[in-house]
Amino acid sequence: MSHDPNCIFCKIIAGQIPSKKVFEDDDVLAFHDINPWAPVHILLVPKRHIASMVDVTPEDQAVLGKMMVLAPRLMAELGVTGGFRQVINTGPDGGQEVYHVHMHVMGGPRPWLKG
Ligand code: 5GP
Ligand code: ZN
Repeated sequence: MSHDPNCIFCKIIAGQIPSKKVFEDDDVLAFHDINPWAPVHILLVPKRHIASMVDVTPEDQAVLGKMMVLAPRLMAELGVTGGFRQVINTGPDGGQEVYHVHMHVMGGPRPWLKG
């Protein structure tokens, strides 16, 4: 399935739910996380609906590589200079809440080390 009408990220990709977009091309959308837990927290998603990393196929290799390569570029464009984390949560034990593959990219001072 390339688009899941019940998927919140597919709705964002389709423009049915607003988002603060950072980058978009034919394959990938990047937008700010609605509930950031770093000073800069964006999500990179493939436009094709892939429920989770356990569902990826060889045809997804290019878009996943593009997301990896985009992350440092977008962090630089957003003014992040001190480094960042790239995280993909997979499945219930991985803490995945939205079942459309997404890479968290979190930059800025390390708030996840506080508290
Ligand atoms: P997960 O736990 O699945 O890896 O992370 C899902 C992420 O999606 C969370 O960080 C959450 O804040 C974000 N999120 C959920 N719904 C929305 C939404 O409607 N808009 C945006 N921009 N982010 C969302
Ligand atoms: Zn989706």
